[in-house]
Amino acid sequence: MASPWRDVVRDAAAVRDAAAVAVDAALLAGVLMRTGEQPLSSDVVNYAPFTLLPSAVPRALFEQAYAVQQDFNLLVDAISQNKEFLEQTLASTIKVDDFTAQLFRIYMQVLEEGLAQTVFLGINRSDYMFDCGLDGTAALKQIEINTIAASFGGLTSRTADVHGLVLKVLGKTKEASRLLPNNPSKGLALGIAKAWELYGSQSAVVMFLVEEIQRNIFDQRCVENELWNRNIRVIRRRFRDVFEKGSLDGSRRLYIDGQEVAVVYYREGYVPQTYDQQGLALVVPQNWAARLLLERSRAVKCPDIATQLAGTKKVQQELSRPGTLEKLLPGHPEAVARMRATFAGLYSLDEGEEGDKIAAAAIADPERFVLKPQREGGGNNLYGEELRQVLEKIKDSPERTSYILMDKIKPQPALNYLLRAHSPLQVSECISELGIFGVYVRQGQEMVLNEATGHLLRTKAIQHADGGVAAGVAVLDTPYLV
Ligand code: ADP
Ligand code: MG
Repeated sequence: MASPWRDVVRDAAAVRDAAAVAVDAALLAGVLMRTGEQPLSSDVVNYAPFTLLPSAVPRALFEQAYAVQQDFNLLVDAISQNKEFLEQTLASTIKVDDFTAQLFRIYMQVLEEGLAQTVFLGINRSDYMFDCGLDGTAALKQIEINTIAASFGGLTSRTADVHGLVLKVLGKTKEASRLLPNNPSKGLALGIAKAWELYGSQSAVVMFLVEEIQRNIFDQRCVENELWNRNIRVIRRRFRDVFEKGSLDGSRRLYIDGQEVAVVYYREGYVPQTYDQQGLALVVPQNWAARLLLERSRAVKCPDIATQLAGTKKVQQELSRPGTLEKLLPGHPEAVARMRATFAGLYSLDEGEEGDKIAAAAIADPERFVLKPQREGGGNNLYGEELRQVLEKIKDSPERTSYILMDKIKPQPALNYLLRAHSPLQVSECISELGIFGVYVRQGQEMVLNEATGHLLRTKAIQHADGGVAAGVAVLDTPYLV
């Protein structure tokens, strides 16, 4: 997208003034993060990184992303209930990827015992980039769906005001008035509250399952406070707290420190290090035992382990095969067409002719592809020369199957300034990623809530191929619809 701010973006004096206003406005509005040095204390905080200017987003693609979100909610929910599909799809992956294999073992164990959970809550975020075609038109292409710990629904609700102020300072009052209000955390809390209500115990609490290192606590507080406003009690616990203090009663109700837990909202648990990392003495394999305890319980997990598995890259790749969406959502041809229109090319690297062919194509032309392992959280994908080298090395080994290949999306860059504490103010060529938050609640077989509940725009300099806000690469942004 060309920048709508061409007249001001190179005006050094105006940019400097606006940046000073922007940073203070962000602090005032609560666009906050704890610091890397003191991640467990709110004594010293800083602003979360954000763009000086809102980025242009084509209105039609923005609306398309919203329009397909309920479909993706339905799809994720359907996959999570389809044991046969998950088993078949992940069979090759779990042979070589220990983390996915362990999640899968817990999934099977919980199914064998029989689910105690009857209410299901999904919070996901479907992420997209705007792929620029040869003729210059942009198309909405899905990067991935995050089915666990999708973050920034809180902080992003505060960036539109900051960007509105910046535009006014830059003499763009009319444009400022066109920025959309946005509050995903309200919708996320609505879903959690609904699940809590259906669980049906007034005295039970909502438990946020949080990290050892808690830099992004303010984002979570936005959702927590919405729940307190509804008079729902919220507690924050880590996996090790669950290991030490958690228990199930005879009907598998979950108790922590004597309190019954109605909903477990994971903001942690999607990287292997959480469960396996030795050495730090912080995190131990006991966390797997804690995860199993939570999954066996009657509490509403957001997400349950099946829904976490539904969000793997391998599942995403299988969804793009002709006929798969139709099988998963029979009787929904329009939803299927809407979803498929957002898919980029995705390719299996499973052993066999199909995998051999695409591996060879990627080695010959690595710039066309992204190589993705079964990991979340940013910074794990491989691009360009590195992609070529790694694929060359593993192309004849089973390790290949722990990855998938995806067509690389190529958005049109635009100039902007990335505001980060302790960093110089400099103009960068940037690209953006739009996320739409979805929330749904199912009781037994009945969908009782299915909504799109807000958006997140993240922007990064083009020299970084990968990585989100938490990974220190992307920054928060606000869409300016064009
Ligand atoms: P993660 O689970 O680690 O967030 P993603 O699939 O979202 O994995 O990829 C991380 C980042 O890599 C994305 O935010 C995006 O910037 C970049 N990326 C991922 N897939 C593509 C793609 N197909 N084309 C271009 N960039 C991509
Ligand atoms: Mg991502």
